Amino acid sequence: MSESKPLSLPSAEVLDRDDPIAHLRQEFEVPDGVIYLDGNSLGALPRSVSLRVHRVIEDEWGRGLIRSWNSTDWYELPSRVGDRIAPLIGARPGEVVVGDSTSISLFRVVAAALRLQEGRGVIVTERSNFPTDLYILEGIKRMRPELEIRQAVDGEDPAHLLDERTALLVLTHVDYRTGRIRDMEALTQAAHQVGALAIWDLSHSTGIVPVRLNDSGADFAVGCGYKYLNGGPGAPSHTWVAPRHADRVEQPLAGWFGHRDPFAFTPEYVPAPGIRRFITGTQQVLSLSALDEAMKVWEHVEIAQVRAKSIAQTSRFIAMVEAQCAGLGVTLVSPRDAEVRGGHVSFAHEHGYAVIQALIERGVIGDFRAPNLLRFGFSPLYLRFEEIDQAAAALADVLRTRSWDAPRFTERRRVT
Ligand SMILES: *Cc1c(COP(=O)(O)O)cnc(C)c1O
Repeated sequence: MSESKPLSLPSAEVLDRDDPIAHLRQEFEVPDGVIYLDGNSLGALPRSVSLRVHRVIEDEWGRGLIRSWNSTDWYELPSRVGDRIAPLIGARPGEVVVGDSTSISLFRVVAAALRLQEGRGVIVTERSNFPTDLYILEGIKRMRPELEIRQAVDGEDPAHLLDERTALLVLTHVDYRTGRIRDMEALTQAAHQVGALAIWDLSHSTGIVPVRLNDSGADFAVGCGYKYLNGGPGAPSHTWVAPRHADRVEQPLAGWFGHRDPFAFTPEYVPAPGIRRFITGTQQVLSLSALDEAMKVWEHVEIAQVRAKSIAQTSRFIAMVEAQCAGLGVTLVSPRDAEVRGGHVSFAHEHGYAVIQALIERGVIGDFRAPNLLRFGFSPLYLRFEEIDQAAAALADVLRTRSWDAPRFTERRRVT
């Protein structure tokens, strides 16, 4: 057995008792016997979402039929939900629209931004970016073979790859593996200095790390609806465009719902003013309604409170794991400095996949990210400090007893 270092942390009981947002847990469905450390991948179900979706189906769709486009204002849902998200990302009302997957939204903003940058042919990103972001960029390059995509590798600063040929800097704000937060303001400034535009993917930021899009001078951003926003599997993404671009930019998937007047049915496309031109076709009313409902929790909590609890929880987890698992083969890969660490914490372990499977069997649900990362997400809206301690203890036990070393834990499943 390894020696445990003595730890002097306040008791979880006291922290939970004094937690100003502890009561929000009641708004969420967290199954008994589960410690859910994967809210960064699929947020838990807010209880009211079941009722809302049921009502939308039975009343609005079932009885209202097509009349509901007007009577319940389905038409405005992408903007209404956008307005709920805006304060979390430093945007103003009317600047955010919601719909489609993050990948599609990213395609739209990257292609739209490229059109503002005629004569420049380089996109700078980083190789460790979330793969879908890289795939979308590669797909755009296949349509525009003259483009060059430059990837920062091995922790290299992407700012070093910028030059006067650069059209766009496309980065993810919080790294999906390590949780490291990129300096949005500094990198945006660096891009602007060479005349490039900055596009930010907020998938692991929105709802967990305060983002200041307008203040940082960013140009475009997209983010995810099913992670920290708890909108449900496949929930629609959000798109923000800086007001200075919104009225003049053309997006490539121009469709009738982004038209100034869809029901004029004109053969010519005339974009809607501002951000609504980033809508393509008929919107996912059921999914938008679920996300709209999930966003109501933010009427009772500030992003700063969530961030404070998030830092306390991730810091506690790191301290406990390092104390209890010393010598058991886990290495922290997330930043130790809480200021540059987002809402999840990753440790490397040689048998990461099996370790996570063993934890999941015990009801401690984290996830595995190739090649060797144990990833734990902390959603302060519904996670108790007590659960942090239990999760750290479970991990230490799995490692100490090597219970992960069983054939059933090494069989790879499709979704990890
Ligand atoms: C989760 C995530 C996505 C998700 O994309 P979808 O198209 O919504 O599946 C995209 N980018 C990043 C950085 C992510 O973390």
